Amino acid sequence: TRLANFLKARIRTVPDWPIAGVNFRDVTTLFNDPEAFRVMIEAFSLDCTQLGVDVIAAIDARGFIIGGALSYQLHKPFVLVRKKGKLPYTTHTEDYALEYGTASIQINTDACAPGQRVLLVDDLIATGGTLLAAAKLFAKVEAEVVGVAAIIDLPELGGSAKLREAGLPVHSLCSFS
Ligand code: IMP
Repeated sequence: TRLANFLKARIRTVPDWPIAGVNFRDVTTLFNDPEAFRVMIEAFSLDCTQLGVDVIAAIDARGFIIGGALSYQLHKPFVLVRKKGKLPYTTHTEDYALEYGTASIQINTDACAPGQRVLLVDDLIATGGTLLAAAKLFAKVEAEVVGVAAIIDLPELGGSAKLREAGLPVHSLCSFS
């Protein structure tokens, strides 16, 4: 699509980062481009309206930039999904596997109310492990995750398929193979 091509042309690819053989998709070049930033937020806003979203939740740290703008645009509450040890209040924790080792993410126990419709936001879907773990956090507060949104999908890594299999509609703006 035109939007996907517009965004892809503005994403910087950094070869061999963080390790040899990986092409890192660097979205800072989109945040640095007001027109690109605006069209991303407009696209996600349409998805939110169609899904009937009550709460925007985003993943530490690049997800916060998108999620914060979206929440402001839609006048909806914003929830932080943080890396372990950053939230001072009582938390729920979910541990998940990375390629090497494990990671843990947290939300506040009062992040949202039971039954609220949550959209999860991050910059990129690779294996889907991060967003799946985030969805499990919101199950703990009995909220309903009605979709996940990301700027970039890497479909060959299988994450978006895994998320769809788990019943989570995936909204991505472009993909790289
Ligand atoms: P997943 O959990 O395997 O889907 O990995 C997604 C997480 O890793 C997201 O939070 C991304 O920010 C990060 N990530 C992995 N690869 C890239 C990349 O190429 N560019 C930007 N972020 C990435």
